Amino acid sequence: MSEEIDESSDEKLPAVELPKAEWDSAMLNLAQSQFLSAAQKMGLDENIRDRLLFPQRTMIVSFPCRMDEYSEVETVFGYRVQHVLTMGPTKGGIRYHEDVNLGEVAALAMWMTWKCALMHLPFGGAKGGVRVDPRQMSRPELQRLTRRYTMEISSMIGPDKDIPAPDMGTNAQTMAWIMDTYSQQHGYAIPEVVTGKPVVLGGSHGREEATGRGLVYLIRESAEHLGIELNKATAVVQGYGNVGRHAAHFLHELGVSIVGISDVSCGLHNSNGLNLQNVDAWLEQNGTLQGYIEADEINNQELLELECDILAPCALQNQITETNAPYIKCKILAEGANGPTSLEADGMLTERGIFVLPDVLGNAGGVTVSYFEWVQNTQEFSWTLEEVNDRLHKILVNAFHRTLVRSQRDGIDMRTAALIEGISRVAEAKLLRGVFP
Ligand code: GLU
Repeated sequence: MSEEIDESSDEKLPAVELPKAEWDSAMLNLAQSQFLSAAQKMGLDENIRDRLLFPQRTMIVSFPCRMDEYSEVETVFGYRVQHVLTMGPTKGGIRYHEDVNLGEVAALAMWMTWKCALMHLPFGGAKGGVRVDPRQMSRPELQRLTRRYTMEISSMIGPDKDIPAPDMGTNAQTMAWIMDTYSQQHGYAIPEVVTGKPVVLGGSHGREEATGRGLVYLIRESAEHLGIELNKATAVVQGYGNVGRHAAHFLHELGVSIVGISDVSCGLHNSNGLNLQNVDAWLEQNGTLQGYIEADEINNQELLELECDILAPCALQNQITETNAPYIKCKILAEGANGPTSLEADGMLTERGIFVLPDVLGNAGGVTVSYFEWVQNTQEFSWTLEEVNDRLHKILVNAFHRTLVRSQRDGIDMRTAALIEGISRVAEAKLLRGVFP
């Protein structure tokens, strides 16, 4: 494998025939196309390239979930995918969403591999998911669902094997139920089987807000690089869940004016800056952003096309596409979500000079503090919040500058540079381990 960049290979992707498989989907297609483009630019060994295109292990389960109405039992589908087992245990969140499918989980697992390798964490990528709408379910239903799903995938997970964490639609409580179910099966407490747990069960200080905090550490580096003064800057944050809400608050603390936010119900715009305390109080009372009066209500497209310095998509995948990419008006696109930008849009943003903090870098704060949590658990030791944040900052800033230097040196965009940073580490490890038997 060569580290040289092939300048002539910019346009067309290699004619790799992708066998159609069970996990075939638009999202895996995006992850694979990004990977192939990076692989071509770095001149990746073809054997390794083909090996990394597909997940190493996948599990599909279907199981009954008893609803609160005692006579009602629903059959639900769940997944766990491990993309690369070369680097150490596999790591990645569990997503509850009504559209979850094997292809989506496989794509997310692949991104986890590059993310962990880019951060130099000793993990391969994994992801899990259950196809349900958690917002329609009661707490007892969610608990039963989580316990049964954990039991179904319990042969695949474990502190030295595969360590789940929260993702969209799951949280610290979900992790507590997984930890409890897994521990019950073994007869003693095994907190290190999941990360993102409540602190009292061995969770790490700072894990809950780590993805949003990490994104803002990286926005700070990007702004410095671009000469943008954050205390005069404006930001739009799409998604007001765990990532978006914390990112908005940390940006606000740095003096950034938050001119737009959104959740599943609507978008809000206030060109003078939203008062986040009032927004949070409204959310607490009403459950969604809709109806908040100190802002204009706008739709998702209008939100993404607002004039701002920083646009942070922190919700779903596939939000910035060839349709709206020409109208995106930010200077920094800070990807808190996984896969928010399509391949076509990526090229258009680069051409328009928008600085992209790609997902595998932008949202890596979460898994980095997950790693800290796992390390603290295995050593039965607890770090302070300052220690966690300090270490997180060092790791992210280091990854940012490695990516930036590679991007400038080789004349490639930040996403390709970040992917090459990750892929080359995995490829080197694969070559060193060799082929068995
Ligand atoms: N679900 C998060 C992600 O996409 C965190 C995964 C983890 O902490 O293991 O990066």
